[in-house]
Amino acid sequence: MNLRRRLTELVLALAALAVTVGLALHVLPTTGSGKATGQARRIIYRGMLDSAQTSNNCTRGRIALTFDDGPDVYTPQILEVLKAYGVHATFFVMGRKAAAHPELIRAELAAGHIVENHSWDHPHLADLGQNGILQQLVRTQAAITAAGAPRPTLFRPPYGSLNARVEAVAHALKLQIVLWSLDTNDWRGRNANDIAASVIDQAVPGAVVLMHDGVPNSAATVQALPVIIQGLRSRGFCTALDTAP
Ligand SMILES: [Zn+2]
Repeated sequence: MNLRRRLTELVLALAALAVTVGLALHVLPTTGSGKATGQARRIIYRGMLDSAQTSNNCTRGRIALTFDDGPDVYTPQILEVLKAYGVHATFFVMGRKAAAHPELIRAELAAGHIVENHSWDHPHLADLGQNGILQQLVRTQAAITAAGAPRPTLFRPPYGSLNARVEAVAHALKLQIVLWSLDTNDWRGRNANDIAASVIDQAVPGAVVLMHDGVPNSAATVQALPVIIQGLRSRGFCTALDTAP
């Protein structure tokens, strides 16, 4: 057994203990607490500027671009487009893929993006027991930090699958649950025009846009992205992580 594996097991054991103690002391919420912010019209998370903040080139407010399920083969292309337009985004990454491709996590960080937790291998977390949920989140935190990223403070559950158990574990790990408010359905095989139109037509200040850099159809997302960014800008929107004149 190598050192890294031993350390991971130690971290998991300590985290399990912390969660168990927290639950035993009734410190943690035991029912749906409404803490999940995704259903709210107004979602604010770490690094986001106030969605209502306007300026000369940003007359209608801000929108957050988020990419799930990477890092994967299309991630470098997504990064290229974001760089070309000077836009920053949030990547909700899978721990399994982060461990396999730490260089892509580092590329995301080096370009100024935010890297956050999207579980280890994308299960429906509400179907898992407390320890299973814990392993999904803790192993992913470890893979992301091992790649050199700051400890994630945000967590997006795969499929938006939530219940009181998932919320309690996220809370114990000090992870804010962040869903989305504008779903591009890019993973369903939609073409680039439809993906772009779904964002541009439904854009409102403070929207959190769900896209994917880690699914087979992400090629269409790569194609749609310049249209999305130009379309948002022409309508007076800026991205939520970028200051604008
Ligand atoms: Zn996902």
